[in-house]
Parts: sequence; C-alpha cells; structure tokens
Amino acid sequence: MNNDTSIKDILLENFLTYVKIWTTSDSQKADEGIQPSTERQLELANHLKNQLEKMGIQSHITSHGYLCARISATEGYENSSSIGFLAHLDTAGEVSGQNVNPKITKNYDGTDIKLNEEITLYIEENPELLNCKGQTIITTDGTTLLGADDKAGIAEIITAIQILQDKNIPHGQIEVIFSPDEETGHGMDNVPLDWIQSKQCYTIDGGTLGEIEAECFNAYKSEITFTGKALHTGSARPNMVNAVTMASKFVSMLPQNESPEATDGYLGFYAPMEISGSMESAKVTVFLRDFEESGMKRRISTIDSLAQTCNAIFPNGSVETKHTFQYKNMKEVLDKNPHVMQNLIQAVKNVGIEPIISPIRGGTDGSRLSELGIPTPNIFTGGHNFHSRTEWACLEQMEYSVKTILELIKIYSKGKN
Ligand SMILES: [Zn+2]
Repeated sequence: MNNDTSIKDILLENFLTYVKIWTTSDSQKADEGIQPSTERQLELANHLKNQLEKMGIQSHITSHGYLCARISATEGYENSSSIGFLAHLDTAGEVSGQNVNPKITKNYDGTDIKLNEEITLYIEENPELLNCKGQTIITTDGTTLLGADDKAGIAEIITAIQILQDKNIPHGQIEVIFSPDEETGHGMDNVPLDWIQSKQCYTIDGGTLGEIEAECFNAYKSEITFTGKALHTGSARPNMVNAVTMASKFVSMLPQNESPEATDGYLGFYAPMEISGSMESAKVTVFLRDFEESGMKRRISTIDSLAQTCNAIFPNGSVETKHTFQYKNMKEVLDKNPHVMQNLIQAVKNVGIEPIISPIRGGTDGSRLSELGIPTPNIFTGGHNFHSRTEWACLEQMEYSVKTILELIKIYSKGKN
C-alpha cells in the first residue's frame, strides 16, 4: 500500500459492499425497547465481524447488536492513550434501504447527474457537487437512499485499520464500536459502556469535507394533554369543552418565528410533531431544542405558560404538561476535555484541509456517549443529502476522512492527550 489510489480502491470496495446490505432500522420497535430493532442489522454486523477476523482482529457482537472490536497497541505503544471510533449500522426508515444499487460517476464533469427517468441530482440544489469536479461521485439509482449515513463512516474506520496494518503504522490501543438503531434515537441505549476503555471516542457520522462537530442541541419532548367535556354537538352550549379546539389553539400559540422552518445555525425551536385526539381528550407532542441550558429552561416554562393561557381560555377544560429529557449538548463535556477537540482539529489540519466547526441541529450517538462520560465529537464522512433518494458521497472526501482517522491515531499514539 504505497499510494493514495489504493486507499480509495479499498475504501470504495468496502463501501459498496456495505451499502448493499439492507439495514433499515424500525423506530416503532426501537421505541418498544427492542434492540436491534431489525434482525437485518446483524447481517452487516456479522459481515464486519468476519472481515475483522480475516484481518486478525477479534470482535464480539452483544445481544443488542453492538459489534465491539479492540485492537491492541503495537509494541512500545502500550502506554499511549486508547481511542475509540464509532459508526452506526442502520439506515433511516424514511426511505427504502433495500436493494441499494449504487451508481459511480468517475471523473465527475460538474453537470447534473441523472439518477433515473424521474430523479436528477441538480447542481442548482446541490452546489457542493461543484467542489467535487474531477472526483468520484457515488449516488443511488433514485429508488432508495444510499446509506452513506453511516456506511461511509463504517467503511472509513475499517479502511483506516486496513491501512494501519498494511503500512505497519505504530499505534496505541484502538477500540471500534458499530452500533444499531442510531436513526431511531436509541443508538446508545444498550451501549456496552463497561467494555469501553478509551477515555475519548469519535463518531464518524458527519457530512461534508472538513466538518467536525462538538456541539449539538439540548433536547426535551413536551407532551401536552387537553381534557374537554364531550356533549351532543346540537346541545353543546354552554357546557361542552372541545379538546380538539383546545389543542389546536395551543399549537397556534407556539411562536412561529421559533419553528424549525424559521431557524438555523444556533437558533433553537419549538417543533409540534404530533397532534391527536377527539372532543374529550387530545394530545400534542412538541420537540424543544436549544443549544443553551438556560434557553431550554425558558422553552419549558413557555410551554407551561402557554398551557396555562390555554386553560384560561377554556376554563372548564384542563391542560397538563409533561416534559421528558431526550439528550444534552455535548459541548459541556468536551469543554472539560479540551484535548479531544484540539487533537481532532490538529488531525484535520494535518491532512491538509481546513476544519469547519459547526453545531449539529440534532443529536448523535456521540452526544449520548458524551453525556455518559466519554467525550465524543463527530467527524465528517463525505456523505451528503442523508435520508433521501438523492443521497450522494464523494470518494475523495471519504478518503480525507480515512486520513483524518489515521492522523488522530498517530496523534494519540504520541501520548498527546
Ligand atoms: Zn448517521
């Protein structure tokens, strides 16, 4: 393995193999506490286990579908600090992930890419494609998602390990976890925390070249229950209280300028996700998102006061709120362990690209893991348009991700932490 072309060859072969294995997760099953939510995710886990075994690396799959592998330090590097890499096995449920038929465009000429008769990847909608002129673009045939989220991440970790072995690069201990059900929000529910020895991990689950993420939302789910009084509509006056009307009044009072549609960057939001019910009882589910703890407190009390206002408008009905914690901004933990981001920024710079540090408008496995005490920022994969039929990846960007992983391994092997 002496040149970069071979990194790309290995990477592409790995990636194409993984995307063809159907691993869509099932949110409903995951919500019921079933993990893995789909058996098919184990197919990829087993494939990876075999692949690692052929490389002489032992691994095990937990009863919940986590593939865990530990690679011992090379001689003389036993005291370097251990580092963990994570990626997820599943793909999102919104779009089919079955029979993925990737299309490869080599030496991309910078024009629109036609996926099939109906779907085209337009430059106008995807100006980022222009950064990939002359490079290799991997798309779908327009009938499924691609699964670069997160099989690009898996391919990049595996390829980095292959390069490590082929080039005899000395390194400290490395741990790898491929997890199920990230897309359902349950990716870390049964993570074998006791097994992890690394004091820092990195998820490879981000987007475009150079993007690294150390911040995500704080997240709460608010459920607001409206209780009315049903009566025959013909003789409703004056005693009927309609829970449907109460619920819709409540939704209309949510601040429009703080909706997901009206916000980006560091602005948080209230997102009404679901409304259901009938005259007697109705329920509204709202997702609250904010980068600041203080902002989250304000959002929770806003929901409570809107509920009270709603109650004042419908005095004979009743309103109850319940707020459930979902996940926490990982920034706090990362700020306490500054070397984790410093080393990552250095690694990205070492491969010759400018790091783009951006906030994630969502959560990751890394945010959960950070909350559990292991600082875990996120690294780009080179994938784009996740969860869609127009998902695409750029092989050269993926290669930079592999190189970033290798640089990180080198930095930690020198004991820089
Ligand atoms: Zn992902």
